[in-house]
Amino acid sequence: MSSASYTQLSREELWERVRRAQKHLESCRLCPRECAVDRRQSRGFCRAGASAVVSSFGPHFGEERVLVGTGGSGTIFFAHCNLRCVFCQNYQLSQGGEGTSVTAEQLAVLMLTIQDRYRCPNINLVTPTHFVPQILEAVALAVERGLRIPLVYNCGGYESVEVLRLLAGVVDIYMPDLKYSSGELSRSYSQAPDYFEKAALALREMDRQVGGLKVGEDGTAKRGLLIRHLVLPGALEDTKRVLEFIQGELPPDCLVNLMDQYYPSYRAFEYPELSRRVSRREFREAWEYAESLGLRLAR
Ligand code: SF4
Repeated sequence: MSSASYTQLSREELWERVRRAQKHLESCRLCPRECAVDRRQSRGFCRAGASAVVSSFGPHFGEERVLVGTGGSGTIFFAHCNLRCVFCQNYQLSQGGEGTSVTAEQLAVLMLTIQDRYRCPNINLVTPTHFVPQILEAVALAVERGLRIPLVYNCGGYESVEVLRLLAGVVDIYMPDLKYSSGELSRSYSQAPDYFEKAALALREMDRQVGGLKVGEDGTAKRGLLIRHLVLPGALEDTKRVLEFIQGELPPDCLVNLMDQYYPSYRAFEYPELSRRVSRREFREAWEYAESLGLRLAR
């Protein structure tokens, strides 16, 4: 089994990253919201505190084929979220904060369990942005005990470039959403009018670090960029702008997962346009447009 990039970092370098990331717990700017709260005493937009909160973990077979392999992708779902989308399908975790507080030591044990007991091909960190310091510390602890499988940074795309730089050489696979191009949509649904501007910078930084998606002989991803876009009802033109950005600004070998599984959830029924599923015609048009741009689509 090939080893993840973080095994090449020196112990000192890894712990230095931990220390720099932990400074955010005193005045949090882990994401573009830049709440500047002391996470040990209060909460910012995402409502996360000083300890990581894990909602669930274990092999997951519903992820992209290149992440699943034979053992399933080794997911660790974190509670809370820096986007809190009104249509969130995991709102009990993202908004309700359901889960268990864990220490970095316990998180390290989870990572090693995923590798050694479940034999998953990767550790899939779901909604990790607000827990980067705790994740880095857990990786630093786990690598000393033999952690070697790639980390998947499975995020909403609303990321700080400065924080992503702390993850360079630590994360091998970036899997961001690119949810919207329109500031109106991102303002209405995620309270983030600058979503696209920040996500565009973040995805360029991810590309700089890892490039297009490389798949090993066993069929699982080893390194690179995999972008998800959930097609929303009535937002086909926005989907097209998102796809054009990917085609124009990112490498042709990044993998794009165009997703059709939207269903109204959480507060979606407060928005008439979000109160239905995406029609087959809408999704087919989005797919054909992506194909016409020559994107590498996950199937
Ligand atoms: S991670 Fe949370 S507290 Fe920190 S800046 Fe982002 S939303 Fe605010």
